[in-house]
Amino acid sequence: MTTAIAVARESAGDSLELLKKSKDDSKFQLKAVAAQWHVQHHTGAIVNCPLCEHELKGCQSLIVELESLRSAGSAAARAFDDNINAILVSLNASVPTQQTWVQLLPKTG
Ligand SMILES: [Zn+2]
Repeated sequence: MTTAIAVARESAGDSLELLKKSKDDSKFQLKAVAAQWHVQHHTGAIVNCPLCEHELKGCQSLIVELESLRSAGSAAARAFDDNINAILVSLNASVPTQQTWVQLLPKTG
């Protein structure tokens, strides 16, 4: 449970960082999805636009950005609210159920 809380805190921090990046760059999430798409469907360097297959030669900054987002977690490709929901779901899952509590109680008799 304490581990789950620590993980949730860290994930919440990460989500805020991602939210900041999305505020600064309206295409951040789009780029993150594009980078993830490349990971799933291609091998090698990112040389083409994932949408129109246009060569990215000459868009060096975009290539660098996409390459750096390749290793970003799936959270980068999701909206802030979805990330917060995912954190809440795993927190909820870490709370012992009523049945678990009963098993934890000292046995009487
Ligand atoms: Zn394109």
